[in-house]
Amino acid sequence: MNHYDAIIIGAGPAGAQCALWLKQLGYEPCVIDAQPQAGGLLCDNPYPLSGMVCMAGQPSGQQLAADMQATLLASQVCLKTSQRVTRIGRYHDQYLVESVAPSGVSVLQTRHVVIASGVKARDGGILASDRIMIGPGSRVHAHDWRGLRVAIVGGGDNAFENFLFIRDRHARSVHLFARSVHARQQFRKLVPAAAMTIGDYEVDAPKLAVNSQSFDRIVVMYGWEPRLDFTLDGLLRIDQRGFVSTEPASCETSVTNLYAIGEVAGRQHPSCATAMADGVVAAKAIQLRLENS
Ligand SMILES: Cc1cc2nc3c(=O)[nH]c(=O)nc-3n(C[C@H](O)[C@H](O)[C@H](O)COP(=O)(O)OP(=O)(O)OC[C@H]3O[C@@H](n4cnc5c(N)ncnc54)[C@H](O)[C@@H]3O)c2cc1C
Repeated sequence: MNHYDAIIIGAGPAGAQCALWLKQLGYEPCVIDAQPQAGGLLCDNPYPLSGMVCMAGQPSGQQLAADMQATLLASQVCLKTSQRVTRIGRYHDQYLVESVAPSGVSVLQTRHVVIASGVKARDGGILASDRIMIGPGSRVHAHDWRGLRVAIVGGGDNAFENFLFIRDRHARSVHLFARSVHARQQFRKLVPAAAMTIGDYEVDAPKLAVNSQSFDRIVVMYGWEPRLDFTLDGLLRIDQRGFVSTEPASCETSVTNLYAIGEVAGRQHPSCATAMADGVVAAKAIQLRLENS
């Protein structure tokens, strides 16, 4: 059983940034990710990443994910990929983090655990298939939309932004169904009223129909939910929206020495910049605890 100063669950922008800071502060973190490489949601983002003031040349999310992996390795951060954390147990003041890899089960020991496990797209009970896509990302980007009748369900930014993307890829028609609209003005004003149904609607997934109208594809954009698919010894306080509650000044959860950062903690507004900022906050909080223990 190996011992680390902190174990970080998830090597997306939040977890990778936290690991890098801890390493540069002189500690030994270990970051574990279920995916084969670091980068989190960036690995599924083939679009140019927006909103980062320090990135000239508009690299795609996937390019940044590759950079993130290279930075962690160059900084000699312990990075374990293709390894899913299944349990966070307690033994006195230590955490035992259990994970499963193709080679078997391993247990790592630490005093500090950082949950940086991000989010997954909500499916609203609709099953994904070759004609039904859940959430934005590389599947929508790579698809050939020419000549297709497409229904988008959802009323947020992702629904509206993908409406515009698919329409511009020469779909035969795109119709948006939203129970309520909460997308930003910038997108709302670009979608004509005739292409929207606002109010209740019914999806018949097997028949590929919405409100009894047939489509060739249905794209589900129901937002995001936290990814917390491991068991934990301790009572983790969850907020009303289902995200992990944390102290803003430290990112510590209701469980001592257990932190939550990035999208799993439901930051306002979720983005790479806010996720990475959380990573720094948690790293500094852990440094203070380690120096004073
Ligand atoms: C299509 C798309 C476009 C986007 N465009 C932008 C943009 O232009 N600008 C911007 O700022 N943001 C953008 N975002 C959002 C941005 O990618 C996220 O805000 C950011 O990735 C969140 O980082 P995170 O570290 O909190 O979580 P994530 O990126 O979700 O990373 C979480 C990681 O935890 C891992 N994990 C989860 N559970 C376990 C477990 N049990 N064991 C081990 N590992 C686990 C996952 O495999 C994942 O790698 C976009 C997102 C998408 C999908």
